[in-house]
Amino acid sequence: MQNKAKKPHVLIFPFPGQGHINPMLQFAKRLHSKGVKVTMVPTVFLSKSSFFDSSASIDLCIISDGFDEGGFEQADTPDAYLSTFWNVGPKSLAALIKKLGHTAHPVDALVYDTMLPWALDVAKQFGISSVAFFTQSCAVNSVYYHVYKGHLQLPLRGSHVSLPAMPPLHVSELPSFVAIYGLYRAWFDVLVDQFSNIDEADWVFFNHFYELEPQVVDWMSKFWNVITVGPTIPSIYLDKRLENDKDYGMNMFKPNVTACMSWLSGKPKDSVVYVSFGSVASLGIEQMEEIAWALKDRNGYFLWVVRETEKPKLPHNYVKETSHKGLVVTWCPQLEVLSHESVGCFLTHCGFNSTLEALSLGVPMLALPQWTDQCTNAKYIEDVWRIGIRARPDEKGIVRKETIIRCIMELLMEVGKKGEEIKKNSIKWKNLAKKAVDEGGKSDKNVDEFIAKLI
Ligand code: UDP
Repeated sequence: MQNKAKKPHVLIFPFPGQGHINPMLQFAKRLHSKGVKVTMVPTVFLSKSSFFDSSASIDLCIISDGFDEGGFEQADTPDAYLSTFWNVGPKSLAALIKKLGHTAHPVDALVYDTMLPWALDVAKQFGISSVAFFTQSCAVNSVYYHVYKGHLQLPLRGSHVSLPAMPPLHVSELPSFVAIYGLYRAWFDVLVDQFSNIDEADWVFFNHFYELEPQVVDWMSKFWNVITVGPTIPSIYLDKRLENDKDYGMNMFKPNVTACMSWLSGKPKDSVVYVSFGSVASLGIEQMEEIAWALKDRNGYFLWVVRETEKPKLPHNYVKETSHKGLVVTWCPQLEVLSHESVGCFLTHCGFNSTLEALSLGVPMLALPQWTDQCTNAKYIEDVWRIGIRARPDEKGIVRKETIIRCIMELLMEVGKKGEEIKKNSIKWKNLAKKAVDEGGKSDKNVDEFIAKLI
């Protein structure tokens, strides 16, 4: 590639949410490290409001979603946000590609988030290569694909669903937008519409590695040019090929790095329960309290991420009363935390990035899924990859304090035998994740082949 006069120029266009930016920005860094010119395309509001690490040497070019002053929060409803974005976004993206066409680096390919399918139409308009990048798992997307095709009729009848290349799924293990049909109509439409034009994409990328879902990947490969390019985890934790790359590099919330890392240091190995529900999930007060009492009554160490907007749900005086055993922060450097030797398990909402991160770092998970794809991820964590336990809710849908305490004790190997097997499996998957992205691993080769086709 060094002999070529011109580097290919790839635009990376994520949906403006933390769980979408992280894997796509990490993928951007991977391309950049292999000699590709890469430009990330955040929305105006995201670029103004995020904490961006400029050392990643990735160019940024902004487009508008129609809410330049406040992003998603500025819109009255998800519907209002999405319909405005769908109207303003294509014009703004087209104007950007046109403008770059008049520079020394016209765009060769657009890697777009599949939540933004109209971006593919824009790429076609300019005759550039198009890559559909999924930030959720293959299994989850296979469910949406079957809904799109009408093979899975909604509302569902019966308690289980059997789909090709996947284990039978109980209704409660399906993505919530499908299981509770009609409740989240705007998001449901977006996820089903991912498939409206995907047949025209030149490539379809998944942010995981082949061994995680071989059957579904093979099944999907019958329709599209599918490749696995992940896990897209900052380099220092897996392949170590990008120097000092220990964070994704774009945070919508400011992490309390020093507070977290100094608190963790000195804690005994595998003694801390790390708790986080990601960037979006909002817990009911009753559930929040059950978690709070579980962590307090267990009387072991915990590090809990409670976003500013969730803080009022904590019991009165909780942070102060638990400060001898716990640290509550509004955002943390999650990868650094997960890779710290004092962390023994991860109580997680099972967002796909958090799932992949814990899997890649070998941290056993206690799954408390809330909505969207998290229930399906939790099923795979417990039954397919066998790297965690699902904490079962009661008939009111609340996971009780006693259940949480028992599951933590199992994972930390304080009771029963399950924890040992889970730890062994976690180490196995960690090694496989590393192998996939190491030089010559399957995901790494896939990325090289993609680049070779662009030249
Ligand atoms: N994250 C973080 N600090 C935190 C909590 C989360 O950096 O305190 C990151 C985490 O590493 C992951 C992302 O935010 O990459 C959350 O994505 P995920 O898909 O797990 O959940 P979502 O936020 O989309 O529900």
